[in-house]
Amino acid sequence: MTMLFSGSMLFSCCNEKQKAQDATTDGASWTVDKFDDIKVLRYEVPGFDELPLQQKKLIYYLAEASRCGRDILYDQHFKYNLAIRHTLEKIYTSYDGDRAAADFVAMEKYLKKVWFANGIHHHYSNDKFTPEFSREWFESALVKYASDVELPISQQELCDIIFVPELYATSLNQTDGVDMVKESACNFYEGVTMAEVEKFYADMADANDPRPISYGLNSKVVKNDNGELVELTWKLGGMYSEAIEQIIYWLEKARGVAEEPQKSIIDALINYYRTGDLREFDRYNTLWVGDNVSNVDFVNGFIEDYADPLGRKASWEGIVNFVDSTACRRTQIISANAQWFEDHAPINPAYRKKEVKGVSAKVITVAQLGGDCFPATAIGINLPNADWIRKEYGSKSVTIDNITYAYDKAAQGNGFNEEFVLREEDRERIKLYGKLADDLHTDLHECLGHGSGQLAPGTKGGELKSYTSTLEEARADLFALYYLGDEKLVELGLIPSLDAAYAAYADYIMNGMMTQFSRIELGKNVEESHMRNRKLIAEWCYEKGKEQNVIEWVKQDGKSYIVVNDFAALRKLFGELLYEVQRIKSEGDYEAGRKLVEDYAVKIDLELHKEVLERYAKLNIEPYSGFVNPDFVLTEKDGEITDIKLVYNNNYVEQMLNYSKNYSFLPLLN
Ligand code: ZN
Repeated sequence: MTMLFSGSMLFSCCNEKQKAQDATTDGASWTVDKFDDIKVLRYEVPGFDELPLQQKKLIYYLAEASRCGRDILYDQHFKYNLAIRHTLEKIYTSYDGDRAAADFVAMEKYLKKVWFANGIHHHYSNDKFTPEFSREWFESALVKYASDVELPISQQELCDIIFVPELYATSLNQTDGVDMVKESACNFYEGVTMAEVEKFYADMADANDPRPISYGLNSKVVKNDNGELVELTWKLGGMYSEAIEQIIYWLEKARGVAEEPQKSIIDALINYYRTGDLREFDRYNTLWVGDNVSNVDFVNGFIEDYADPLGRKASWEGIVNFVDSTACRRTQIISANAQWFEDHAPINPAYRKKEVKGVSAKVITVAQLGGDCFPATAIGINLPNADWIRKEYGSKSVTIDNITYAYDKAAQGNGFNEEFVLREEDRERIKLYGKLADDLHTDLHECLGHGSGQLAPGTKGGELKSYTSTLEEARADLFALYYLGDEKLVELGLIPSLDAAYAAYADYIMNGMMTQFSRIELGKNVEESHMRNRKLIAEWCYEKGKEQNVIEWVKQDGKSYIVVNDFAALRKLFGELLYEVQRIKSEGDYEAGRKLVEDYAVKIDLELHKEVLERYAKLNIEPYSGFVNPDFVLTEKDGEITDIKLVYNNNYVEQMLNYSKNYSFLPLLN
């Protein structure tokens, strides 16, 4: 599974795409804070008001449960994170000096970064933050404003942790050959070596179990008085008990308003939190993955293992969501017409599937992000993680529409399209239809593209070796691009006109041949398969359409632009390339596949690359984003909730201080 940013969220193969963005100026209203390399956005929760009261209550209770685990994640990331955060917050709130003074401003920025990363190490690079305020200033602030904080370590030690670069330099060290357990500051192991831990779990594992338990998922490993390794399990009565107790409290409330099968699912989760029994966690997961009827859904628990150098310990996360019925209707229409699309695909009829089943992708709206999904989150969920459950029971894969929408909105006005899209009419189309076209591209790619076509007799699959994923992504993208420009989509009511397709085409070609290079270091090749696929398609169409001038490089004021002159001809080229890529897959033609990728997808022109990086850098677009959550406002009568509304708190600092005040259940040392 590929992962970007935090925990349980996956970028599904096409959502990973970095899009060209909308060009209006109201993006600012979606951005609530900016600091360092980060911007914090807000998201909206359309459809919440229309939900029945019972579902609103369910969401509210589950949301409370997902706020209650916040401190667990801080402590998992590093054992002194809670002490540091608490101290910083104490100084921040009681400070009566000049709040515009350089040291204070620098500390504020540091604190904002700590909130964002859920600790003192960067959420993406895992490197410890470097404070930009002086130790001297901080030491006196400590004495003046935080002397009553009962620290588990001395103030000197606390300062050393913050200011000495070598100390706890990274939360996650996975360098080959080092003791990753000793060299990582994360709080999953203490006083043990990597070799000891590996032996400990190797002895526990049963290689013959077809349904292996995820040993170690929910515990910290330490040594007891006899020098033996033992687990401190994260459960009620165990480690993190105080927070888990609160989580259970809200889960029980949620259980009270849930219907079956969700009642039983919540029961299993509560039981798991009470016992720490990993078999119970598996049972919970099998029930959860089988529930396709509940409108409200959630993730709550120790889920992803990316923060552990040994990939065993899971970070705590929580998310609450409900089905986005409008978007689901879109994928249902596409799925219902799956056979029509297959029968008309511009490929050799022998390689068309006789009977095709469209997948109806689920699109959801989140109402709360928590733990490892907060403030940074991704835009899709693909769970559970246990391979045997995925094999026997399947997995749930969903995309989160209101988060992608917020990303899209926030990017408006960041200057990207003004910089890279030459023609006003293209910018206008992207502004009007960019999001819709992008969603449809995703739907067609996921619901139909990957599942279309069939192999020739004798082809086994796997013949394309290392070129498999690039060519497979190209096949799915081409299927989507080809049909985006089909009148059939207008007929089905999915797009108002082919202008939506043209928005997508202009964007796709520009991204493939140019703007996606902003994410690659100068002088490097394109390696990632989605990026390769985009370059392959765009460059191939450029070359094949050169005589007709379908796609054109334009130089203006010393800058390079790529423009599409003939959308209908481009669509035809998409069809032709799809024919060939499908043939390559169906026949397992390794040599032809290799040549396509190597000729079109890998090498970047150095001058162009340099230009793109320079122009992109000038835009000052923060590479990382995260979110603030909405707040719940209850209307009550005689102690009963009669309605729930969402309000959008657009103040990052306020929300963080509020969470720290109301959802801090753990001691400063656990
Ligand atoms: Zn894909």
